[in-house]
Amino acid sequence: MKGFAMKKIGEIGWIEKEEPFCGPMDALVKPLALSPCTSDVHTVWEGAIGDRKDMILGHEGCGVVVKVGELVKDFKIGDRVMVAAITPDWNSLEAQGGFSMHSGGMLAGWKFSNFKDGVFGEVFHVNDADGNLAHLPDEISPEEACMLSDMVPTGFHGVELADVQFGDTVLVVGIGPVGLMAVAGANLRGASRIICVGTREICKQVAKGYGATDFIGYKEGSIDEQVLKLTNGVGVDKAIIAGGGVETFEPVIKCLKPGGKIGNVNYLGSGTYINIPRIEWGVGMGHKQILGGLMPGGRLRLEKLASLIACGKLDVKPLLTHKFKGFEHVEDALLLMKDKPADLIKPVVVL
Ligand code: NAD
Ligand code: ZN
Repeated sequence: MKGFAMKKIGEIGWIEKEEPFCGPMDALVKPLALSPCTSDVHTVWEGAIGDRKDMILGHEGCGVVVKVGELVKDFKIGDRVMVAAITPDWNSLEAQGGFSMHSGGMLAGWKFSNFKDGVFGEVFHVNDADGNLAHLPDEISPEEACMLSDMVPTGFHGVELADVQFGDTVLVVGIGPVGLMAVAGANLRGASRIICVGTREICKQVAKGYGATDFIGYKEGSIDEQVLKLTNGVGVDKAIIAGGGVETFEPVIKCLKPGGKIGNVNYLGSGTYINIPRIEWGVGMGHKQILGGLMPGGRLRLEKLASLIACGKLDVKPLLTHKFKGFEHVEDALLLMKDKPADLIKPVVVL
């Protein structure tokens, strides 16, 4: 079969591979729609996970089941299915402990385009199919379903980690697609004011539609000073970090209220330490928490998030700024993600 792959760090291209083996609990899926991710860009051009040879890329997609193992109970050939970027082993100790995304080791629930071939193939393999596939509702299009693989669950996980409550003032740092879903999730959870750190016009427009109330620019002065000015020196209840680097934590702690919580879903690609400012961390006693997490996958999670779209409570269409038709355009979509033109949020390829 054909697949679009990372040949080595910095090099991509089409390759031929054997169709994956389908174990007794697994499924093989033929894609209906695919989307590249910022993480694919980190993987190929920044060597974020180390070198890989001829590894098929991609972890955002949906499709049709073409093969199922004999122990799979809830899915059959021909079913339209969604799948998350993170596909845990559901019988692992980590999953039993409530952290399925770390099944098999820290971050090891991320298998697609990491430990095994990703979804940019004519067919892709899903482990633990009963736990990791979800039926795609008729009301949801394949391109919308792609946003349920990673962008929605990651942005919403930032909101869960920050523990957003009714009436909270929330800061969202970075309004790429993940940050935009954090805005939408914070709004659904009842946030009052949602202050966004971001400057791109298209992202600001879409963020407003999702409930953002204020904008500041990280290139226009320090984040903490701008937030404190906007809030009359009070600061924010919660913060979600979905962009920037290790340096973002310091200003966010500085403008977080005592008892505030930070949910980080951002990938920190460089630097050795995160600085926690001693005074603004309440000299060790400010009850300011930081939680960072990989998104949770799994059937139940996918079905619940999908029901938000199916019931009209969440619209992911504003994220889909660039659409391609045909498998061969996976390459164009990935290059677009790498070049990030000003009008791009997410590209999607419908097959
Ligand atoms: P993105 O690159 O499209 O968005 C990040 C945004 O942050 C960009 O618009 C960028 O301009 C902005 N930014 C850069 N520096 C900033 C700063 N100092 N302050 C504020 N904003 C700044 O990426 P995305 O697809 O939205 O993903 C966001 C992050 O989430 C990435 O690091 C990605 O790797 C990570 N991610 C994590 C998970 C997870 O499970 N935790 C899953 C998917 C993606
Ligand atoms: Zn992704």
